[in-house]
Amino acid sequence: MRGLILSRGRAGTGGKRLTHHGMVPVHDVGGMTTAGAAEPGEPMRPARPDLVVRARRVLTPAGIRPAAVAVTGGRITSVGPYPEPGPAGRASGSGALGTGPLPGSSAGLTEIVDLADDEVLLPGLVDSHVHVNEPGRTSWEGFATATLAAAAGGITTIIDMPLNSIPPTTDLPALAAKRAAADGQCHVDVGFWGGAIPGNESERGRLHDGGVFGFKCFMVDSGVAEFPPLDDLQLARAARQVAELGALLLVHAEDPASIRQVREVHKPGGADYASFLRSRPPVSETTAIAKVLQIARATRTRVHILHLSTAAALPLIDAARRDGVPVTVETCPHYLALAAEDIPDGATEYKCCPPIRDRANRDRLWEALAAGSIDCVVSDHSPCPPELKRLAGGDFAAAWGGISSLQITLPVVWTQARARGHSLAEVAAWMSAGPARVAGVTGKGAIDQGQDADLVAFAPDETFTVDPARLYHRHKLTPYAGQRLTGVVRRAWLRGRPLAPTSLSAVPAGQLLVRRSGR
Ligand SMILES: [Zn+2]
Repeated sequence: MRGLILSRGRAGTGGKRLTHHGMVPVHDVGGMTTAGAAEPGEPMRPARPDLVVRARRVLTPAGIRPAAVAVTGGRITSVGPYPEPGPAGRASGSGALGTGPLPGSSAGLTEIVDLADDEVLLPGLVDSHVHVNEPGRTSWEGFATATLAAAAGGITTIIDMPLNSIPPTTDLPALAAKRAAADGQCHVDVGFWGGAIPGNESERGRLHDGGVFGFKCFMVDSGVAEFPPLDDLQLARAARQVAELGALLLVHAEDPASIRQVREVHKPGGADYASFLRSRPPVSETTAIAKVLQIARATRTRVHILHLSTAAALPLIDAARRDGVPVTVETCPHYLALAAEDIPDGATEYKCCPPIRDRANRDRLWEALAAGSIDCVVSDHSPCPPELKRLAGGDFAAAWGGISSLQITLPVVWTQARARGHSLAEVAAWMSAGPARVAGVTGKGAIDQGQDADLVAFAPDETFTVDPARLYHRHKLTPYAGQRLTGVVRRAWLRGRPLAPTSLSAVPAGQLLVRRSGR
């Protein structure tokens, strides 16, 4: 961003102009015109934008192009032409960054921000797989630290997993406790998944009505006692119930019997990564996913496969999709950026379940993303205090399974994507529009009229080295420490407001989201 000017909107100078909504007054703001905000289905009404962000490269649904994005009341009211230089055209260094009235103030000012030529304006990312862990395990991570990290990483919406908080989000009082814990602390918008565990059948309808975005369940031990897995029969019943609610069922798909079988002949443990990898074989994922697909086929339940690690399951998923089975799939940055061959023995910061597999598998995951077989890339940020990673002994069996990456998921994925010839538009589809669509988060995931003004100024060519001290995560341990990554989030806005920590404003402005679609 080169400069920021504050210009008074000059109402009346634009006169009347015909739009497809009819005759509306328009204003001329810094060389662009804009019509007013409108709820879907409402007539356009005149309004002076609070904020206009202009850039030579804006990622719109029609591709990357020069544009001026006007924002009124937190929503994008127009994506107009990029202004020609002129007296009211681009600002060039006038004014100071971060000064002036906040967007939405009553001062009648329009804030105009021009991105630098090396920046691209992206839609804010949506991360539908984050373990915030508050309340109950706030010493692992919390809403303040997680959402600050998200904001710094260009993620403007997260959906929190129902575990490892205590209580887990498996009944209505627990959802209320979580919302109370989050309230006033969040720097980005936060929604909540509910949980399906044995015995909470009667609570699921209430959770659904309480606004959770769907239900997560495990087929294998979750790692925490208060969130037990469903057996096959319980899974089928949960699927039927979730289908009746019109909700989404998220499944951690690893098959416990397959894992037990391997352990009969191969005891996991110790610092050898290859040994840990053998203890969670691809067949445990493919077996579990086959079961989930069979249930989805029979019940027509919308199912979502969490954190796909093995590419071996993709043919099953593709085949089910071809038959009309409503299935979506996510994978995670660590499966796309890291590889088993490169993981040092004892480096338990790389431990997650299902595990990071070999390079050939990683290549196949990228091919599946390119082909559209994988819907989205989300962090599965699941940190813990460093002592639970058992770094001293480096014992993979004893260490907590979970990778910490929330703040750097965009550069981690972009660095790899770019090297493999993928575009920023594809990355935004995987990390913004895709998760928003899967989770049913409305108003997010695109720079388009009527959407929330969640915007990210991203410098796709700038490189940096990951310095754990600069991460806002509660704990700094991450497998990406010291890695050279490409792509820097320079600045972001949440519903038109500048986000901490890149702005001077550190007031948490995130809202707690409730599902708007469904029953
Ligand atoms: Zn997870």
